[in-house]
Amino acid sequence: MRTIKSKFKSQKSKVKMEKKMQKRQAIVMLGLPASGKGTQAEIMAKKIGARIIGIGDLVRSAMTAESLDVELLAEIKSDYDKGIPQKDKIVENLIESEIAKSSGNIIFDNYPFSSDQINFFETMITKYDFSAPKIVYIKIDPELAITRISSRRICDKCKKIYLSGKIGDNCNVKNCGGHLIQRLDDTAGIMKERISHAQPRIDLVLNHYKNSGQVCEINGEQTIEKVAEDIGKIFY
Ligand SMILES: [Zn+2]
Repeated sequence: MRTIKSKFKSQKSKVKMEKKMQKRQAIVMLGLPASGKGTQAEIMAKKIGARIIGIGDLVRSAMTAESLDVELLAEIKSDYDKGIPQKDKIVENLIESEIAKSSGNIIFDNYPFSSDQINFFETMITKYDFSAPKIVYIKIDPELAITRISSRRICDKCKKIYLSGKIGDNCNVKNCGGHLIQRLDDTAGIMKERISHAQPRIDLVLNHYKNSGQVCEINGEQTIEKVAEDIGKIFY
């Protein structure tokens, strides 16, 4: 009896140790605007207990940060308003300060997005002790991205995204009190500009990792639930 008990105990502590030794997970979510990757990142974040780092959000919050240098802010804002991707140096600073804030799993939303960013990203993976990153590509047709985006709305207060709805409608989040607006970068012209920059950059990242066994391509033209299910098959 005692032997069985102690054997059980040692197995338990072995599991505990393995769990402790498990490295932080890094997941890269790639997809065009309106591919649904933001929604999928949130679903996954809850399931695996990860924090999401999104360049778009980082840039948007950097633009409202009061501590930011005026010239730098103008540079960020100018590129943002034109739909041009932010410069690597700017992105690197934003990314590393976010990685350093936590010690858990991280889902990167549309990052890395250029050759230099890949190099920097790989440095971060080593420096902050992550396991080999998984690349999840949510693939949709660019035309579908434009169609989807033109009907997308966002709450001006809590930032909840609505896939449809009229501008000015009340947000349905309890006690929010916000109203639906169209985000500045959601207009068709800027969208086309963003897509024309995004697809080659996605292809570049996919190409970099193509022989690594780390890339998972998901059909993003399915329902949110089905896409989540397909992603779930890879991770849990
Ligand atoms: Zn709201």
